[in-house]
Amino acid sequence: MPYRAPLADFRFLLGHVVGLDQVAATERFAEATPETVEAILAEAGKLCEEVLAPLQRPGDLHPARLENGVVRTSPGYADGYRAIAEGGWVGIAASPEHGGMGLPMAVTTAVNEMMSSACLSLQLNPLLTQGQIEALEHHASDALKALYLPKLISGEWSGTMNLTEPQAGSDVGAVRTRAEPLEDGTYAITGQKIYITWADTDFNANVCHLVLARLPDGPQGTRGISLFLVPKFLPDAEGRPGPRNAVTVVSLEEKLGLHGSPTAVMDYDGAKGWLVGAPHKGMAAMFTMMNNARLGVGVQGVGVAEAATQAAVAYAIERRQGGPGGIIEHADVRRMLAVMKAETFSARAIALACAVALDMGRATGQPEWQARAALLTPIAKAYGTDVGIEVASMGVQVHGGTGFIEGTGAAQFLRDVRVTAIYEGTNGIQAMDLVGRKMMDGGEAAFRLLQEIEDAAETARHRLPDLANDVWAASEALREATETLVGQEMQDRFAGAVPYLRAFARVLGAHFHLTAAVTDPAREPLARVAIRRLLPEHAALLAQVREGAAGLYALSPEDLAA
Ligand SMILES: Cc1cc2nc3c(=O)[nH]c(=O)nc-3n(C[C@H](O)[C@H](O)[C@H](O)COP(=O)(O)OP(=O)(O)OC[C@H]3O[C@@H](n4cnc5c(N)ncnc54)[C@H](O)[C@@H]3O)c2cc1C
Repeated sequence: MPYRAPLADFRFLLGHVVGLDQVAATERFAEATPETVEAILAEAGKLCEEVLAPLQRPGDLHPARLENGVVRTSPGYADGYRAIAEGGWVGIAASPEHGGMGLPMAVTTAVNEMMSSACLSLQLNPLLTQGQIEALEHHASDALKALYLPKLISGEWSGTMNLTEPQAGSDVGAVRTRAEPLEDGTYAITGQKIYITWADTDFNANVCHLVLARLPDGPQGTRGISLFLVPKFLPDAEGRPGPRNAVTVVSLEEKLGLHGSPTAVMDYDGAKGWLVGAPHKGMAAMFTMMNNARLGVGVQGVGVAEAATQAAVAYAIERRQGGPGGIIEHADVRRMLAVMKAETFSARAIALACAVALDMGRATGQPEWQARAALLTPIAKAYGTDVGIEVASMGVQVHGGTGFIEGTGAAQFLRDVRVTAIYEGTNGIQAMDLVGRKMMDGGEAAFRLLQEIEDAAETARHRLPDLANDVWAASEALREATETLVGQEMQDRFAGAVPYLRAFARVLGAHFHLTAAVTDPAREPLARVAIRRLLPEHAALLAQVREGAAGLYALSPEDLAA
């Protein structure tokens, strides 16, 4: 079934649920009026439906491959990418000073979701470039900005992110790649990076790698890591790509999914690089890119969930089995489809709310908005991608045996989206970030958000008393669990981190569904699914939070292996 961009849901969520009007009321984003946003999303939707969605299957069937050290991309990808770049979509959120559109992240997030639904493998390329643009905007010297940003923003060049090494995955502090200062102020980068997404293409005139490496005097651990910009071709002063740099793609990985997206082992052999940000402050600079990418990856999950739901509903209407109507008439199939739709709505609302908080933080500089964005980012990443995987898996189930057979696309959604819970910081690492770094304020940002949820539930009581009561009570339970959590030792927090993050997402999702139902009665049935069927899970999740770590460590490695 062809993908249809969910424009009505975006319009409704942005206009009535997550408050894009606040963003448009700021000076920085004054151009993001409802009419402009509507036109932009319609244009992006058309591109996704007509140009990108048809590339989904060819990318799966004909993976990117390495030929004589050069990556050859899947059929049609070059044309699809050109359409993305020419539409200005790579630089949609980038600053107008260097050619970007300067639009809010809330709009970028909606566009990125549609592109992820249409063709996840290709969408990863501009997503990484967007992250690199943001990192350079914040941390690079003026000279680097002037040379690189216009090319990246126009999409002529692409950007990658090079953290991972064989011994340095989640533990980025273990990075060994070396950076030797050269006399001309640049650096010679030497080392091996693995799993590098879109490390090379045959449709970008240059590929710019942001690389974490260690200076000779760099202290051990994350405090000794610096960030370098290493282009595939060394540009001249006018930005014309010149000689080849000493960086090569050694091999491409064979993967479960995302076949259209090349994932490379990279060799840096004294490659010329430029320092971005201060020496030894590479992690802080890279975090700018990672935070952008974390929300972006969460939205990849939402995009796949949307596409998988659309395909499953269409199949369930057509497929006849066990009755005169389609299988959609069976209670269990109806349950699966309703859950898929409710979960997708929740994850989308959380991602857009996170984007609005980012925009407000940037436009106003208010620490409350910045803290809200920081709190919501790991939830948007982990919950969005978990929903992507769970919904894609249910999509396979709705298709029955056909779902397991390649060709319907249901299996590809599941294979492609699986990695989103792993890259950009595994979902376990996201949850630890939520209960660790994001609770350094003693839970203040969380409590402020829960207060808003409870106030909204109070207001909703006169219209939908049963649903409002459930949301209020769940928020109270989360508040109590948060009070317990901030008093726990870190190891105990970590043991309950994943259930805590999911409980938080459950409460947030229920809150957004309730807001939707209060605004538009037609949305009440879906809100009932989210609040009456899914929200109760929070109680079981929060029970795990209170358990701490001791019970888990009572099982020894030998017990687990027995
Ligand atoms: C398709 C693909 C594309 C990728 N693209 C890029 C890219 O473009 N650039 C890049 O730099 N990297 C990229 N990666 C790498 C990716 O970010 C890492 O795989 C990821 O960070 C996990 O690291 P790891 O694989 O070494 O797993 P490990 O770190 O070994 O983790 C294994 C398991 O242990 C858990 N774990 C590890 N440490 C802890 C801890 N302290 N506490 C609790 N649990 C822990 C993890 O959550 C996970 O479940 C990509 C990976 C893939 C598969």
